[in-house]
Formats: sequence, C-alpha cells, structure tokens
Amino acid sequence: MKAAIVAVGSELLDPLRRETNGAYVTGRLREIGVDVLARTCVADDAAWLEAAFRDALARADVVISTGGLGPTEDDLTRDCAARAVGRSLRRDEGILEWLRARFARFNRVMAPVNEKQADVIEGATVLPNARGTAPGQWLDLEGRLLFLLPGPPGEMQPMFDDQVLPVLRERAGGTVLRSRVLKIASMGESDVEQVVAPLYKTFANPRTTILGGAGQTELHLTAEGSSVEEAEALLEELAAGIRALLPGRIYSEDGRELPEVVAALLRERGLSLALAESCTGGLLASRLTSVPGASEFLDRGYVTYSNQAKVDLLGVDPKLIEAHGAVSEEVARAMAEGARRAAGADLAVAVTGIAGPGGETPGKPVGLVFLALAGALGDRVRRAQFPGDRERVRRQAAQAGLEMIRRAALGLSAG
Ligand code: ATP
Ligand code: MG
Repeated sequence: MKAAIVAVGSELLDPLRRETNGAYVTGRLREIGVDVLARTCVADDAAWLEAAFRDALARADVVISTGGLGPTEDDLTRDCAARAVGRSLRRDEGILEWLRARFARFNRVMAPVNEKQADVIEGATVLPNARGTAPGQWLDLEGRLLFLLPGPPGEMQPMFDDQVLPVLRERAGGTVLRSRVLKIASMGESDVEQVVAPLYKTFANPRTTILGGAGQTELHLTAEGSSVEEAEALLEELAAGIRALLPGRIYSEDGRELPEVVAALLRERGLSLALAESCTGGLLASRLTSVPGASEFLDRGYVTYSNQAKVDLLGVDPKLIEAHGAVSEEVARAMAEGARRAAGADLAVAVTGIAGPGGETPGKPVGLVFLALAGALGDRVRRAQFPGDRERVRRQAAQAGLEMIRRAALGLSAG
C-alpha cells in the first residue's frame, strides 16, 4: 500500500516551525508495511488544499491529512476534502451533542462557529477525539482511504494509534516493517561502507543505507517480515554481523545520540567531569547539557580561547605554549589536567585545534585538533585531522571529545 500525507496549516510553512505530524505518521505506517511516497505541507488556502487532496488521491491508496479541522474561518480541511471527492457535507447530530456537552463541562456556551466541527463528509465514519474539540473522520472511496485528523500532535497521535492504525493494519495484508539505526562516531562514511558493504550487500532483507554527517555515520537497517518478531530477528541477524565487523565502534542501536550514551556511562560510574574547550567554544558543554540530568555528572566547562585564559584558568605553563603552540599534544594534555585539578573533578576532557578558515601555520593545517583526557578513566591524547569548513571541524571535534570519553569508559583504544 502506498500512502500520501497532507499537513495542513499556513503556520507550518513558517521557516521556524517544524512540521512533525508527517514524520510521526510515516514512522508508524512503515511499521505496518505501508510506504509513504509523498508528504505535502499546504497553506490554509482553499484552492491549493483541494488540489493537494485531488493529487494525493489520484496516486495513493491511503491519504492522511492532519490539521485544519478547527472551528475558525481558516480551517478548510473538511470543505476542501469534500470538494476533492465530489461529496457534500452533512451536519452530524451526534457530534453536535457531544460538542455542546463538552463545552458545558467546562462551563462554557458553544459559539455558533463551533458547529462547523460537526460537519462530516457524506459516507464518512467519525473518529472521536478524546483530547480536543475537533473529531476526525475517514472515508472508504472504493478501496482508496481518506483520513482527516486534527493538527495538534497530542490529539492526532492517539487518534492515529488507536483508531487509524487498526484499520490500516488489517488492509495492509500483514507485512511488518521494522528498522534499526546503528550509530558510529569514530569512522567516516566511506570507511564504514568499505568494511560493512560486503556483508550487507548479501542481504536483500533487511535493506541497508548509509548516512554520513559531521562526526557521525549511521547505518539504517529496514527489515520486512510477516510479524514484528520475524522482522526483529532479521534485523538482529544483520546487526550482529555488522557489530562483529566493527568491534567497539557502534555507540548506539536504540536511537540515543552520543551525549546521552556518554551521560549514562558517567552516571553509572558515578564520575564527575570537567571540560576545557578552545576551538569548540563550549560546544561540548552544550551537547552534554542537552541531556536531562546532566548536573549529576557535569561539574563545569572552561572556554579558554586565548593563551592567557589557558594560563589563568587552567594553570597551563606559558612556556609549554611558547615551545609547542596552543594547538599541540602537550597543551591539550596540560589543559585537561589543569581543568581536572581546578574543578576537583574525577576526569576532564580538553579540545584545542584550528577550526579555520584562518590560523594555519607550517605543519599545522586547518582541521588539526588535539583531544586529551585526564583522570579517572586514564590519561590519553589523540591527534585528529578533520575535513570541512569551520562549523564541520567544530562539530567533529566536539563529537570526538564525547567519543573519547565513551571509549575510555569502555576500555577501548583511543583511536
Ligand atoms: P484545533 O481544533 O486545535 O484548531 P486543528 O485540526 O484545526 O485543531 P490546527 O489548527 O491545524 O489543528 O493546528 C493546531 C496546532 O497544532 C498548530 O498551531 C500547531 O501547533 C500544531 N500542528 C498542527 N499541524 C501540525 C504538524 N503537521 N506538525 C506539527 N504541529 C502541528
Ligand atoms: Mg485550527
């Protein structure tokens, strides 16, 4: 079965707003073997919205819209969907009563505009909304299915899970799709590809795709089975093979990002951490503090950008900087040890490097970064050469700092 999703709402086209319903519905549909081939985001505009419904219904077996079911002038979904399928709307007495009772419960009188929310396309089945005033509805158009769901994710998600999925699961013919993401922080996309492609290419099911980002490579595995158990078993068989080819490299298979994994390792061990950052300017601290409960292990971070700051705050010997330069193995070590001492923390990580585009010196190209760890997990230092522009270098350096902690905590080699 092929599906299309129509997200309705002018506000969703705002560059700062995220359209999340489409991703949610896509993920849930994949689990029951329904492929989403298009996601459209449409403004509250009658002509565009009607056209979006016509287009989607011309190609997809299932069309799911979210949003635009409210009572106001700009809530057009019901009207436009009805026109697109060539049917009229009828006012549903049952919904009207339910709406009035709902308002009464909150000691309010229902405004006449709200009656619009009781409009149902001829032949449609009503989907009650336990969490809001906009009921959903769905229509069987000789095998093609059209679902209209409310926009607020807190209303849409339970309606989709409890009332839409059961209908679709039955019609999807029982195939199940499951996926798993294996995340790697210490190897680039092409290196990972070279190691694992000979294995995953022998599998038609699961399918594997590789995604590369700054300091991160992801292997996306998708398996198809006749049951969740069968699909999961297929995933595990391939994942086990990949794990064996990349010992210690996969930091997560459960959706967690590297800061969450590192946070869990430090919390389990009851270790406190201090940071000394130069070229990453606090990025490492920012990523770690994005984890709820970071205060349980993170003591402090120093952003020591100038040489003087490294001397003043971390006690780095100025002679060391003079002899080796601020971007050097020696200074990275001294920064880590200095931060650990100054904070009285169990361990510290330091990052110093050349993010570019300027700052290059002979023998020290843009992208050169030294990372050092000092304290409870042992002392180690790493020289890295990252490709890309300033932002990419900074992101990769922060990621490498996190990976350094993870590898030390698990007793894996530095590299
Ligand atoms: P209501 O009765 O609450 O008006 P509605 O079906 O008309 O229901 P909308 O007005 O379209 O829903 O959306 C209400 C809010 O829900 C939006 O302001 C937005 O915050 C959120 N929302 C709607 N659609 C989406 C979406 N696709 N992704 C993320 N959030 C959404
Ligand atoms: Mg609305």
